[in-house]
Amino acid sequence: MRKWILGLVCSISAAAGAQNKYGLQAATYLEYKESLRTHPEKELVDLEKEVPGLLLEIRYATMNNFTRQKIYQLAKAYARKPVAVALRQAQAEFNTLGIGVKMYDAYRPYKATVKFYEVYHDTTYVASPYKGSRHNRGCALDMTVVDWKTREELKMPTGYDSFTREAWPTTPAKNPAEGKNRALLINVMEKYGFKVNASEWWHFDFVGWQKYEVLDIDFEELAK
Ligand SMILES: [Zn+2]
Repeated sequence: MRKWILGLVCSISAAAGAQNKYGLQAATYLEYKESLRTHPEKELVDLEKEVPGLLLEIRYATMNNFTRQKIYQLAKAYARKPVAVALRQAQAEFNTLGIGVKMYDAYRPYKATVKFYEVYHDTTYVASPYKGSRHNRGCALDMTVVDWKTREELKMPTGYDSFTREAWPTTPAKNPAEGKNRALLINVMEKYGFKVNASEWWHFDFVGWQKYEVLDIDFEELAK
């Protein structure tokens, strides 16, 4: 009997752990759909549609990222509805300054966070798979700003995914113009309900992200 129970427990945990060996329960597409019935604001929306004029350079849909692997099959940017509304407001303010917004990454399926951790173990720069990332909750944006006319990125103290101290928003910029651009990005985003990450000038968390579950849904399912 004891052996039978043990066997049952093992097979249950193997089934649950098959998708998630770090013990975190990431919601599936069906669970996410169910959550929308009571919380329609949790919808993941397509940022290109919700924020007209937004530029995308989804690095994880290319080899040009720190993993040197193509992580996403589609170059898409999704976020929860209130995140999109706040981004649209921030973009409107940037636009009055002749500046556009470029997105490197937004919602990220949980399985990608696991992959990042397995490639690069330093949780100063990549999220722990035991907790998941705010990107997995559809509540984080990796982004920069561009000159609206030329589409050229405004110069920043480092490039995207530079895992160095120069990428910390509190590190004084060597070049004053770069420091000014970084301050502009952060000031406008924080005015509209985002908080910059302490070690990445390009990463913004939506304030209130705790209310949104970690998800493991592929872009293909969302794009259907
Ligand atoms: Zn990020």
